[in-house]
Amino acid sequence: MGAFDVYRGQARCPACRAIHFFSGQTKVFDPDFGEHCMRDLAVGRPQPVGFRPSSMLEAAIWEDEWWRVRARGVPGELTLLPDLGEQFACSCGRPLVTLLRFRLDDAAAEVELLEIELLDLLEDDAAARVDLADRDGMFDVDSPWDDVEELAAAPESARIEALRAALALRFEGHETWFVPPPAGFTWLIGQARCEACGDARERRLWTMYSHPGYVTSIFGEGWAGGVLRPGSRIGGPSPWRERDEDRGYYLRLRHPLPARSLTLCEEDASWACACGAGPVAVVAHFRVDDAGLTLASIALRSVRSLADLADVDLVCAPRCVRALRLREGWGGVVRQPKGREEALACLARRFGG
Ligand SMILES: [Zn+2]
Ligand SMILES: [Zn+2]
Repeated sequence: MGAFDVYRGQARCPACRAIHFFSGQTKVFDPDFGEHCMRDLAVGRPQPVGFRPSSMLEAAIWEDEWWRVRARGVPGELTLLPDLGEQFACSCGRPLVTLLRFRLDDAAAEVELLEIELLDLLEDDAAARVDLADRDGMFDVDSPWDDVEELAAAPESARIEALRAALALRFEGHETWFVPPPAGFTWLIGQARCEACGDARERRLWTMYSHPGYVTSIFGEGWAGGVLRPGSRIGGPSPWRERDEDRGYYLRLRHPLPARSLTLCEEDASWACACGAGPVAVVAHFRVDDAGLTLASIALRSVRSLADLADVDLVCAPRCVRALRLREGWGGVVRQPKGREEALACLARRFGG
């Protein structure tokens, strides 16, 4: 790990306009780590780097790790492609490329984040906009380049093409990333409606209903992970519904549960609907009958207080359901269930209550 160059900010998905919140490390401003650690790279906050930042663009390779893509960028600016592995697809399904644009101030030896930009991998030529890219992920088995020196010495058009290919590889088969999900995980796929603005569109949404590390899913024996769509059935009895107990990382908010419905709420995600109604929590409504559960609908909710959970039966709240406790003797730490009152107080604190 290098210096803690934490960048933060937000940017919109070019397809659905959802607002994505970022907090990550560039690890690109390493050289002066000893003097300037914990740089806070945010719009409107110039940060000292302790060297002339334009020097990052004067050689084909920067600090052995970063290679120059386009030959000439915007004077006084640096456009950086963070780690290929951190590139993600929006919940609307669109594969996105994240670029960080910095202003470089040689006289002050400072940099300032100008913008986090999300480009559409399919529609925009993101590779041609990059000044520096990380070497990681550039040398897979099919790569014509043996090492970063060879790549950085290639003509500009070949360098841009190499980055295009690496980005395409990162998103290869992105339509099928979620179907089937990796064993043990559960995704919700289907129309999801924002409760604030009514926008409804197809989304792919992560849940904690099941996890490879759980013995059983939140639903019990009848579900071990996969994709749930509106109309999907989870068969089998649900004896756990009758017991006043939490389920995995889900805190039970009431007992008894309604006889014919089940409402689950996820933790806040790192994005918000285009309408700007705060980070979304995924709320799933199930119908309950004697033979099992049916996913009825998916909603996106901005949860600001406990009152916003009034219709929720179980809420995902890992840090409130379980606490790190010291084992007796020399046994290290263990996660143990918290008592109900302790868990509810924790949840209330989360909302500032
Ligand atoms: Zn989107
Ligand atoms: Zn909305």
